[in-house]
Amino acid sequence: MAEQLIGAIEAGGTKFVVALARADGTVLARERIPTETPATCFPALAAFFGQASAAHGPIAAFGVASFGPIDIDPASPGYGTFTTTPKPGWSGARFHDVLGRFGAPIVVDTDVNGAALGEWQAGAGQGCRTLAYTTVGTGVGTGVLRDGKSLMGFSHFESGHIPVPHDRTADPYAGFCPYHHDCLEGLAAGPAIKGRWGQSLSELGSPSDKVELIAGYVAQLAVSLVLLHMPDRLIFGGGVMKTPGLIPALRKATEARLAGYIKAPQLDPGLERYIVGPGLGDDAGITGAIALGRQALG
Ligand code: ZN
Repeated sequence: MAEQLIGAIEAGGTKFVVALARADGTVLARERIPTETPATCFPALAAFFGQASAAHGPIAAFGVASFGPIDIDPASPGYGTFTTTPKPGWSGARFHDVLGRFGAPIVVDTDVNGAALGEWQAGAGQGCRTLAYTTVGTGVGTGVLRDGKSLMGFSHFESGHIPVPHDRTADPYAGFCPYHHDCLEGLAAGPAIKGRWGQSLSELGSPSDKVELIAGYVAQLAVSLVLLHMPDRLIFGGGVMKTPGLIPALRKATEARLAGYIKAPQLDPGLERYIVGPGLGDDAGITGAIALGRQALG
């Protein structure tokens, strides 16, 4: 039997990482494509997979881990379609329109669900039955897995938009979310940090008072994830989380807010094993997309 090849797409807000891989995860070809608009991005995607397939063999399945909001309900007629994304040109674009020509099954999930899956299979989430992966970067989002399967309701979760306590005396910044202003994303994502202080936390030299302010907001999400999902571990990735000292500050703020209420072996004193950075670094997304493609193989 011919080897089954997977087409994998990690669709990010600024770039797509695309790969052709074997089912065991070995990458045979890989490229970056600027996100720009579907009019430029989709033909480049088709060209990449066409050339990679010509060189290595037919594609048996596609796995897509994408920015959103996007329809990830396999039972929906609009499965794989971008919905209310503010990104120009992307609302209404559908992955099936460009990948359908290859005649292979397509699994579409969110970027954070994909990264969670990658970390669960090969990174910092190995061995966890329930795992939450959160990114704090240009935006904030969380994927929650149970036994390697991503959870959703009528749509994917939107953890970035939870309300958080906002002391306007300590932090007069109004927040940048066009819908809620000072939701978690509006106060703690990369654009909020630049909007408030003009530079990233790392560029500012990671001053402890500013790091603690952001950690306090993110800790509201960490505590909510514990209370709602009781994950075995929380992984925090994304550009903002690379700030030196932010993860330790997040552990401290989360532990303080949990206030000893939850007693479980998973919640180690200091939360050093409980709240961690990604094990795969920036490769979590494409690793997850390959894993989604493996799900499509059935
Ligand atoms: Zn919001």
